Amino acid sequence: MKIHVVGCDGGIAPGKLTTCFQLSESLFVDAGSVCGGLDFDAQSKIRDIVISHTHLDHIRDLGFLADNMLGEIDRVNLYALPEVNRHLKEHFFNNAIWPDFTRIPSRHHPFYVLHDIEPETKYTFGNITVLPVRVNHVVPSTGFVLEDKEGSIVISGDTGPTERIWEICRTYKNIRGFFVELAFPNALQAIADASKHFTPATLKKELIKFERENTPISLYHLKPKYAGQIREEIAAQENSAFRFLNNGEVIHY
Ligand SMILES: [Zn+2]
Ligand SMILES: [Zn+2]
Repeated sequence: MKIHVVGCDGGIAPGKLTTCFQLSESLFVDAGSVCGGLDFDAQSKIRDIVISHTHLDHIRDLGFLADNMLGEIDRVNLYALPEVNRHLKEHFFNNAIWPDFTRIPSRHHPFYVLHDIEPETKYTFGNITVLPVRVNHVVPSTGFVLEDKEGSIVISGDTGPTERIWEICRTYKNIRGFFVELAFPNALQAIADASKHFTPATLKKELIKFERENTPISLYHLKPKYAGQIREEIAAQENSAFRFLNNGEVIHY
């Protein structure tokens, strides 16, 4: 499997791009930086976006993609939990925060077509299968197991300590890599717990649920202000499975 890390930061600062993974020319997970991280030609090929949850850093560029590509792309399919789709319509595409691109250019042929997904059901896009699994965040949220004929990749999504996705992972033999969120340094444990994110300390405890020998664990979603501190705390754990994702990199598994 080939994954293009369009954006992997947990916030915005110069040079930072929020969560967005490209799985094929047309298929994406999250839309935090589909515009900020892709040129117009790449944007014009987007057809399907699976959305983990409604937090702004994961949906932000949906607004700008519609602006950029209305009239060029016939429609873009969004796949998310029913609660997420409902909140997208009520709180984002509500003609106050942004125009309602679920009804523009017309109610019958809108730019965005919202599809409800069910957790733990497999969805196939070309040769890639996406399995959403509920994780432990402050709003309804999913992580994903992505699978093609070469193997599987697990994306944790935004979550604090969780169970089900790791339970499901144990049934997969050929996991090539984990993408796991990590947002705050240990000093901000209380904020991490309240907002349901990992720190290096809680991530270390979580590893027992999923770590496998020789399988890389790629960390992402660092809050930009604390990225240096988080990297130092992870380095101190001396775990050779850990690496950090970088914006723009393409990873082949
Ligand atoms: Zn979130
Ligand atoms: Zn986030």
